[in-house]
Amino acid sequence: MRITEQDLQTIKTVARMAASLCQTIQAELVDPAEKDGREPVTIADYASQALIGNALAENYPDDAVLSEERSEEFMLLLDDRQRALVQRYVTDAVGGYVFEEQICAWLDYGKQKTAARTWVIDPIDGTKGFLAQRHYCVAIGLLVQNQPALGVLASPGFYSDDPNPPDDPGALIFARQGAGAFIEPLFGGVAQPIHVSLHTDPQTARLLSSYESAHTDRAFLERLSHALKRGPDAPERQLDSQDKHAMIAAGLGDIFLRLAPDVAYREKMWDHVAGHAIVSEAGGRITDVNGRALDFSTGRRMTRNRGVVVTNRYLHDAVLAAIRLSRPPRRTGGANAPASEDLYD
Ligand code: AMP
Ligand code: MG
Repeated sequence: MRITEQDLQTIKTVARMAASLCQTIQAELVDPAEKDGREPVTIADYASQALIGNALAENYPDDAVLSEERSEEFMLLLDDRQRALVQRYVTDAVGGYVFEEQICAWLDYGKQKTAARTWVIDPIDGTKGFLAQRHYCVAIGLLVQNQPALGVLASPGFYSDDPNPPDDPGALIFARQGAGAFIEPLFGGVAQPIHVSLHTDPQTARLLSSYESAHTDRAFLERLSHALKRGPDAPERQLDSQDKHAMIAAGLGDIFLRLAPDVAYREKMWDHVAGHAIVSEAGGRITDVNGRALDFSTGRRMTRNRGVVVTNRYLHDAVLAAIRLSRPPRRTGGANAPASEDLYD
């Protein structure tokens, strides 16, 4: 059950391989398919998840897996040519011929199991960023008894303004519970410990949010900025993927707020587990917008939480207080509505 340094090395290696494969595919032609809910998916998402499934099957046969993509959609959404491409890329990456059935088995690996340990995989976090040549990362997290215990983010072009900088391979950001959080060059090099910032002034704190406007309630974010007395020049950056968690962990940002415009939206597990493990080990704090701890026991969707607030810990209480001030007026209920302090129930 204990997570070892060897576990971390195994996962770092597969995350690197998956990110490298994504970069290769990105450099060639990528035409996305569309999943339920109009989210894009590409051959790189499937190739990356198949590679990771293979590594987990080999190294952790007793563990469960919760991963974004499914073989059913792979067969349904991709045409023959796209599926053959996935097969070719995975064959090249593992160094032995891989049949389509094997790809499907790796995509679904560990999904029917329940176990004390669950790997939580986003094969490409930020597929929209990947398609637009912005930021994305490969995210691998581990839940032990529903608590984030390990996180690895493989992020090409991490932090740079240019997602494909000529001399910067990107970064691997990783943490193991009790052993600290680190950053190292994506394809090898010296690991440096990372820590959250010491910033305490909400007015000048560096605020991070999604690049995709459909992923964030911008009106709410504006009310929040106002409640924090932030001026028009207060630093704010919008970017894709759990790179935002990594930036908070590395002290490159101070507040990251995630709140979907649709009140019914519930966060997906694989958008948070790896990032949560890293931010916690770097000294940061994470709750939902109502100040509750994230509950990772609910399967694919985090049904018991609404939105996510990630900070360097020092700014957290101020942000939660400002969120309470920024609550939208209640839409329903009137005098008979149940009294609740929650932003959204
Ligand atoms: P980000 O790059 O931080 O905006 O987050 C990317 C993630 O947003 C994807 O992995 C999706 O799971 C998630 N996502 C997709 N649609 C929505 C939506 N309508 N609202 C909030 N998040 C979404
Ligand atoms: Mg994804």
